Amino acid sequence: MNQDWRGALLLHLLLVLAGSLLVGLLTGHYGWALAIGLAIYLGWTLRQLQRLYHWLNTHQQDEEPPHSHGLWGEVFDSIYRLQRGNQRVRGHLQSVINRMEESTASLRDAIVMLDSDGNLESWNPAAERLLGLKSPQDIGQPVYNLVRHPRFKEYFAAEDYREPLELPSPINEHLRLQIQITLYGQRDHLMLARDVTQVHQLAQMRKDFVANVSHELRTPLTVIAGYLETLLDNAENINPRWARALQQMQQQAGRMQSLLNDLLLLAKLDATDYPADNKPVAVDLLLLTIRNDAQALSGARNHRISLEADPKVRIKGSEAELRSAFSNLVFNAVKYTPDEGEIRIRWWADEQGAHMAVQDSGIGIEAKHLPRLTERFYRVDSSRAANTGGTGLGLAIVKHVLMRHRATLDIASVVGKGSSFVCHFPPTQLEDRA
Ligand code: ADP
Repeated sequence: MNQDWRGALLLHLLLVLAGSLLVGLLTGHYGWALAIGLAIYLGWTLRQLQRLYHWLNTHQQDEEPPHSHGLWGEVFDSIYRLQRGNQRVRGHLQSVINRMEESTASLRDAIVMLDSDGNLESWNPAAERLLGLKSPQDIGQPVYNLVRHPRFKEYFAAEDYREPLELPSPINEHLRLQIQITLYGQRDHLMLARDVTQVHQLAQMRKDFVANVSHELRTPLTVIAGYLETLLDNAENINPRWARALQQMQQQAGRMQSLLNDLLLLAKLDATDYPADNKPVAVDLLLLTIRNDAQALSGARNHRISLEADPKVRIKGSEAELRSAFSNLVFNAVKYTPDEGEIRIRWWADEQGAHMAVQDSGIGIEAKHLPRLTERFYRVDSSRAANTGGTGLGLAIVKHVLMRHRATLDIASVVGKGSSFVCHFPPTQLEDRA
């Protein structure tokens, strides 16, 4: 190609020179003939330049360039080929973009692109259906102004998007959405919202079923336990062979009652996201009563139970729920610590928030059990649990209550040495003394 245009240029110059020489030979004015020859060549070159300029500015798509010879012909053709090549690439990219847009438009899940501050940039039609976004007036609006759920605002601000969030849709409360956010690029946000109404309804049915069964079982069980108690109260009239059986029946009825109570409490906790009452709780006094109950539970086993609680630290929440959670932790420490063992209860605050710790010198838990300990009915050793009369629901209740108070649970344990359960409440949960 390079050789071609050099050859063409050389040929043109040779032709101009030869023509000028010939005219010079005929007229005797070599200088003038050469000057006029070069001027004509320059004029022709400028004319080609002007044609090129005109074509570049006015040509329609696919319109061929003007015809020309030699070097200019090469220039015109090269530009034309370059343009066609670019057009082909652009067409290909456009078709890729169109396909992407078509596929996201046909998705049943909402996809929303947000900038690093959470302002809306673009979304697919499903986002209009599920989240009620309106184009174009919502472009540039902060997403939490349109998805106005307090839990969404909290979730968005916390920037911890490992777990998805479940919410009712902002435009239809019967629609349940699962929202997942991913950060990409310069901390831009990609938000996915999926309709999980059916799954939610199924889970709800399961919860309702458990709650109803527990509720229905409570009355017959109360009657049975009541009669057993009456019978045992009149032990002198009973055949001694039956006395032991009745005692065991009473013990098991008691277990069933605590199981039902725990199941009902869990069902109640499941029903809402936040505690109904959100008043300042005097945790130090709460822990004092729990400590006394624990000492009574320990009885002759004679555990040494200490309490260090800062009376100035109060948190917002439900006293009844916190009582359930904390007493589960303290009573577990009593249950799983050998006689005369040591149990330490602490309550304090620092810049990370407020903390409640229960530390025991008990039997400890193997590390492999720790991640699953808060699952319902998960037990380290079921034969041991039967002896302690546990329901296997205690730590599930603790986890639930803490979640509702935006708190987390840390468990550390060494087999044979003891365990430590620490609840961490964020600073936002502390009572606002102002
Ligand atoms: P349970 O009613 O059986 O005590 P929890 O949910 O309260 O059920 O506890 C689950 C399991 O965790 C228990 O079965 C027990 O094995 C273990 N566990 C809980 N607390 C302690 C503790 N302080 N020390 C040792 N093991 C514990």
